[in-house]
Amino acid sequence: LTIAACLMGAILLAMTLQYARRTNIGPFDLERAIMAGEMKPYYQPVMNLKTGKLIGCEVLIRWVKKNGEVVPPGAFIDYAEMSGLAIPMTLSLMEQVRFDLDHICRQVPDFKVSINLFEGHFRDGSIVEDIQSVFDGSGISYRQLVFEITERRPLDDRNAANRVMTAMHKLGVRIAMDDAGTGHSNLAYLQTLGIDIIKIDRIFVEMIKDPTDPVPVIDGLISMARELDIDIIAEGVETQAQALYLRGRDVVLAQGYLFAPPMPAKPFLTLAHALKPQ
Ligand code: C2E
Ligand code: CA
Ligand code: CA
Ligand code: CA
Repeated sequence: LTIAACLMGAILLAMTLQYARRTNIGPFDLERAIMAGEMKPYYQPVMNLKTGKLIGCEVLIRWVKKNGEVVPPGAFIDYAEMSGLAIPMTLSLMEQVRFDLDHICRQVPDFKVSINLFEGHFRDGSIVEDIQSVFDGSGISYRQLVFEITERRPLDDRNAANRVMTAMHKLGVRIAMDDAGTGHSNLAYLQTLGIDIIKIDRIFVEMIKDPTDPVPVIDGLISMARELDIDIIAEGVETQAQALYLRGRDVVLAQGYLFAPPMPAKPFLTLAHALKPQ
C-alpha cells in the first residue's frame, strides 16, 4: 500500500512539474501569489435583457502580477486544481468578494453574486464551512449567492456531490450548472442534483446569427430548463441579434461582451451603481 501511495505521489508530482514547465508556472509561484494577494476577483455584469438593468455579477479570477500583468484563469486553474490549491484560492477569492460587494448587496437586496467552484469542492464538504465562515454576518446574504459547477467535467462521486449540494441548499444559496449543453446534462442529472439555474454555454449562443433562425440546441436547453422550473442565464452574448433571439424566447438574464467584460471591483461598482434597479 505504501509503495502504491508513493508511486501515485511521484506520478502526481511529475504531472504537476510537467504542467508547470508547459505553462511557465513554477510549483511555488501559485502558492506565493495567493499568499501575496495577487489572485483578484474580476466582476462581469449579469444583465436583465428586458429592463437593461444589472441584476448581479459573475466573479472571475485573475492573477494580477506586481508588474501589472493580468493572467487569465486558463493559464493556472488546472494547475491550481492538481496541486490542491484550488480550495484555499477560492477561499481567498470569497473573502475579497465579501469586502468588495458588501455595500452593494446591502443596498440592493436582489443583487446576485455568482462564484465558480471546482469539482474538488463537491468531494470535500469543507466548502460549506468556508461559505459560512466568509459570509455569515456579512452584507451578502445566502439568498444573494449562486455557486457554479461546470458540466464540462463529470462529477466523479455523485453521492458526495449530492451531500455537499444538499448542505449548500440548506444554507439558502443556489447552484448553477455552468457550460450547460457541453457535457452530459439531462433532465435526470439536473433534477437529482437539484440545480437551480443553467448557464447556456457561449458555443451555443455563438450559433445565433439571426433572431429569426432557430438554433435547436438552444431551444432544447430552454425547454429542458422550463420543464424543471430551472432559471436560465445565457453567457457569451456578443451581438444584438443574440440578445433579441434570447429575449424572444423569454430568456431575460444574460452576460457577455455586448454589455461588459469582466473588470476589477472599482469600475464594476461604478457601473453597478449606475445600472442598478431603483
Ligand atoms: P466560465 O465560468 O464559463 O466563464 C465565462 C468566460 O467567458 C470568462 O472567461 C469570461 O471572461 C468569458 N466571457 C464573458 N463574456 C464573453 C463574451 O461575450 N465573449 C467571449 N468570447 N468570452 C466571454 P475567463 O474569465 O477567462 O474564465 C475562463 C474559465 O475559467 C471560466 O469559464 C471558469 O470555468 C474558469 N474560472 C474563472 N474564474 C474562476 C474561479 O474563480 N474559480 C473556478 N473554479 N473557475 C474559474
Ligand atoms: Ca462560470
Ligand atoms: Ca460558463
Ligand atoms: Ca463557457
